[in-house]
Amino acid sequence: MTIERSGEFIRAWRDDDHPREECGVFGVWGAADAAALTALGLHALQHRGQESTGIVTYDGGRFHSHRALGLVGDAFSDARVMAGLPGTAAIGHNRYATTGGTVLRNVQPLYADFEFGGLAVGHNGNLTNAHALRRALVRRGCLFQSTTDSEVFIHLIAISLYGTVVDRLIDALKQVQGAYSLVALTTEALIGVRDPFGVRPLILGRLPGKDGARHGGHVLASETCALDIVGAAFVRDIEPGEIVVIDDTGVRSIKPWAKQPSRFCIFEHIYFARPDSIVEGTPVYEARKRIGAELARESHPPADIVVPVPDSGVPAAIGYAAEAGLPFELGIIRNHYVGRTFIEPTDQIRHLGVKLKHSANRALLAGRRVVLVDDSIVRGTTSRKIVEMVRAAGATEVHMRISSPPTTHSCFYGIDTPERDQLLAARNDVGAMARIIGVDSLAFISIDGLYRAVAGAARDARRPQFCDACFTGDYPIPLTDQSDQPNDRQLSLLAETR
Ligand code: SF4
Repeated sequence: MTIERSGEFIRAWRDDDHPREECGVFGVWGAADAAALTALGLHALQHRGQESTGIVTYDGGRFHSHRALGLVGDAFSDARVMAGLPGTAAIGHNRYATTGGTVLRNVQPLYADFEFGGLAVGHNGNLTNAHALRRALVRRGCLFQSTTDSEVFIHLIAISLYGTVVDRLIDALKQVQGAYSLVALTTEALIGVRDPFGVRPLILGRLPGKDGARHGGHVLASETCALDIVGAAFVRDIEPGEIVVIDDTGVRSIKPWAKQPSRFCIFEHIYFARPDSIVEGTPVYEARKRIGAELARESHPPADIVVPVPDSGVPAAIGYAAEAGLPFELGIIRNHYVGRTFIEPTDQIRHLGVKLKHSANRALLAGRRVVLVDDSIVRGTTSRKIVEMVRAAGATEVHMRISSPPTTHSCFYGIDTPERDQLLAARNDVGAMARIIGVDSLAFISIDGLYRAVAGAARDARRPQFCDACFTGDYPIPLTDQSDQPNDRQLSLLAETR
């Protein structure tokens, strides 16, 4: 666990045994109450980032913004704040910092004035050549205001010699590498972009019409749960490598890249997306139940009950229990309020660790052989404490089943994972991991089992459908900032923009 303080914001009790969600984006064009709709959409996407949030609106004459550290409900509950965000167009962003610290200047949407007018940008993902680009841009005299990778978009657009904002954006996008789903707001349009591999999700929705109007404007969002909360209908996924430009005339699609196979993040299905969302045409809850069932088919020890590690392990545990023919029981109760507390922990209570977040339901666990189902193990620290807690509650055997393959590699595409040497599965085989965590047995779903559950067929190594790099090390997008010679290529790309 880490505790970080930034200004008035104290983030307490992070869970180190899961990768952390990245960011969520939302945008509206052509709706009377754009800021309120955006705040609702961001609230539905709160699971994708809890450190900071922001909204930028455009009222036909001026841009307005409010950005804050903390949760959406706290940032946008004041009527005066909302009154300061007029306009029929807005974009919003929830952030978990995958790069840059948690300070107000890093909170998105980022905004800048250009000769063509204002531009606001919200970015979900992570650029893999941001450091190289930043060095090159600084050398050219660009003054960075934040420490986020996303700010390179602003500077690349600023130095582009193309005329229109969309052409400048395309010029900028052709220089970046990495994962990005963007929402951008100009004086003339709402723009949505997905990187050529489609690593992060982005969808298009349509609001219902009022007073006889055919429809009430368009919405862009990271997940369908954000459409549901504002009553918008799902239209379609933004395609990998697609730019959509939404204005009063409708939706225009631009595809500046040659089509290539998508590599959507498979961890969205396992853990990141909200269970009631539909991602890439697949209901997340159903996919997680299928993953649990596949896990049970691959390995299920003799046991009495199946217990999820809440909340994220629940759908997989339901699928596991049904397939294994075992009772599903809530043997661990999660306290939902701890992770959002503003308590500053003392050394005395910090060591209580996992008990602040999870407690054992003794009446269910005592005397039972338990299968614990969780979605991932990163460092193993929380898993070990949960196993200790379940044993202390009287379980006679504890078997752990994980609904993802072993996390052996770090993510560089917008998910916060530790360095590789901190990943338990990078340093230990499954037997050693079982001993460290203290379980009677440990098993992970296989990569083929995961693909079968999510996509209906085993992984084809020649044409994997997803990014699965944290399990396989097969990174679909170059990790330029991790290599020793990143600069020449980036500098030559920049030189071409002159
Ligand atoms: Fe998702 Fe893992 Fe790929 Fe990151 S490395 S995008 S978490 S599958």
